[in-house]
Amino acid sequence: MNLQELAAHIAAEFQKHYGRAPRWIVAAPGRVNVIGEHTDYNDGFVLPMAIERYAIMAADAPLPGSVSAASIISIYDAHFQENATIDISAPVTKGLPKWSNYIRGVLCGFQNRGVKIPALDVAFMSTVPLGGGLSSSAALEVCTATLIEAATGKAIDPIEKALLAQKAEHDFAGVPCGIMDQFISALGREGHLLLLDCRTRKTELVPMSDPSVALLVINTNVKHELSGGEYAERRAQCEEAARNLGVKSLRDVTPEQLEKGKGKLSEVVYRRARHVIGEIERTVHAAEGIRASSWPSVGNLMYASHASLRDDYEVSCVELDDVVEIAEDIGYKGGVYGCRMTGGGFGGCCVALVKADCVDAITKKIAVDYKIKTGIEAAIFASRPAAGATIIKG
Ligand code: ADP
Ligand code: MG
Repeated sequence: MNLQELAAHIAAEFQKHYGRAPRWIVAAPGRVNVIGEHTDYNDGFVLPMAIERYAIMAADAPLPGSVSAASIISIYDAHFQENATIDISAPVTKGLPKWSNYIRGVLCGFQNRGVKIPALDVAFMSTVPLGGGLSSSAALEVCTATLIEAATGKAIDPIEKALLAQKAEHDFAGVPCGIMDQFISALGREGHLLLLDCRTRKTELVPMSDPSVALLVINTNVKHELSGGEYAERRAQCEEAARNLGVKSLRDVTPEQLEKGKGKLSEVVYRRARHVIGEIERTVHAAEGIRASSWPSVGNLMYASHASLRDDYEVSCVELDDVVEIAEDIGYKGGVYGCRMTGGGFGGCCVALVKADCVDAITKKIAVDYKIKTGIEAAIFASRPAAGATIIKG
């Protein structure tokens, strides 16, 4: 479903559930990180893209005299057909069902800004796969924030909105995420990627207007639960590298400086640092390549990113490597410029840069070969760079 179809769908769901048409419709997208992996907590760059998959909400003020009229937000999850009610007459706290906490966290953020939240009847759904590493959580948070903007008639600065959503994820979902997911969902623009400096929070829209290319998202449908602590261990190794090299973070180290300081690091910590420092460079170069529509060079940076994550950072897995190998086999002639794992690793998704008119053939080929190699069905879809949060009606 494209965004217009989705808007019509959620309007119909609202109508069915509440017996009238919605006054507001808002949406916010999920995202895929095109390049820049494990760079965020090293003060580096990331380059995410909003995907054509959205959290969407239809809403209206409750009918006068109804139980919710004074101080209740009623939310109907149209996909799971489940209801949540949130009392907004007092400070909003954590509660049930679990998914309502992403919404509660955002409402609390508005209350902390002194905003009087209006009572609302809401229907919502999401076409972002849940828990697939495409940030359905940030989409839900940013969508909620956009609804409050629409219903109060007061927009807030999009960066503050993203930070408010991030705080909701920290405090109400207990996930200590970085800034990428909420930033791209709030600030994305159609036909653009977002180069985000995780040190300064400076953002730069990178146009990707060439209609001859698209991004393919390939979900391996595996998530390896490792012994745990892998993420924390990588972070600690990065901190150790920075400390031994005498800098605040690995952002401050050039590849030349790393080679000079190699003797101060253990072999493993050196490789971890080499990934991060190389990846920060690759991300900046990829943004330049996208601006210039230099697709083969962007593709090569993606392959290099994958090799580095696999060999130096050691966060890939057999299934992610299989997808990248299949993509490499299809190659430039078959319409693939590049492919890499995306997200934290050990499963989840790959992202490939492909020729738009080869999308169907590539999708089929990857699905078939991946099934042969692993016995698992991959979920694959293409997307062009989508817009960030939008008020569709209101
Ligand atoms: P990701 O953000 O990568 O999809 P997370 O684990 O961060 O993965 O967030 C997934 C969680 O977000 C789900 O388990 C659910 O609680 C919540 N969520 C997001 N969108 C919806 C939705 N449309 N309906 C119900 N829950 C949702
Ligand atoms: Mg998430």
